[in-house]
Amino acid sequence: MTASTSTCTCGKCFEGWLSPRMRERLEYSTDLRYGLAKSLLDTQDGLPADVSRSLPIDYAEIDIAYYYLPQELREKITSSSSTDAALGDAIYRGYIAVFKVIKDMVAESYEDSNDTPSSFPTVWDVDKRLAELRSEAAAKDAATSADAHPPATLSAKTREHLAAYLDNGGTAEYALDCIVDRAREELSPLGKLYDADQRYIDAVLDGEDGEERPECPNDLDFALVRVRLGLPLETRGVEVPEDEVDVREPVSDEEQGAD
Ligand SMILES: [Zn+2]
Repeated sequence: MTASTSTCTCGKCFEGWLSPRMRERLEYSTDLRYGLAKSLLDTQDGLPADVSRSLPIDYAEIDIAYYYLPQELREKITSSSSTDAALGDAIYRGYIAVFKVIKDMVAESYEDSNDTPSSFPTVWDVDKRLAELRSEAAAKDAATSADAHPPATLSAKTREHLAAYLDNGGTAEYALDCIVDRAREELSPLGKLYDADQRYIDAVLDGEDGEERPECPNDLDFALVRVRLGLPLETRGVEVPEDEVDVREPVSDEEQGAD
């Protein structure tokens, strides 16, 4: 196999492009996004029904993942503009379920490969899994016949939410875009939000957990990762409003460019 196009120098990159450090960033980014949304939903679900009805949480104001959805989907989710709050809620929950599916697929990749994980789930991988999970009843029928690989299952409620997300134009792409772009912005020195609070990732990348992750030019090649995962080169994350983020690097010279 020729390595003429590979930029890998560490010898540990999956197929010469996905470095251990990049993969760690993507996995941690997945955990962060899902964890945040899950705690938000748990809070909402913990409220008495009459309270949560009168005070619907505006997900858009809290979860940055919202900005990785196309405008049509955002409008359906946002409680102020949506004509059907229940549908908006279901779509948002379905979107968050996609992050959980990706998290589960990453975990499976470790189980399947004896601690030498291979790739990261691509848009195609995840879309395929979503279709399977959605039609779980059909999958179960098939499984009883011969299949020894029963797929992870979703609750009936979650399946409904996933269907709402998919039926309204949702795909794996938006969640993966969010994961990759937030990894770049928050967990890599290329990002605007990379600061002392995120040193955790540095410690992990430097082997605090006992796993060796040699440095490689692929560690920060997010453009390459986007291509390989089936994402468009341009992220939707550019639409994240500046005041939505709590930590911003101060502009080093505010006087610059002033009239
Ligand atoms: Zn490498």
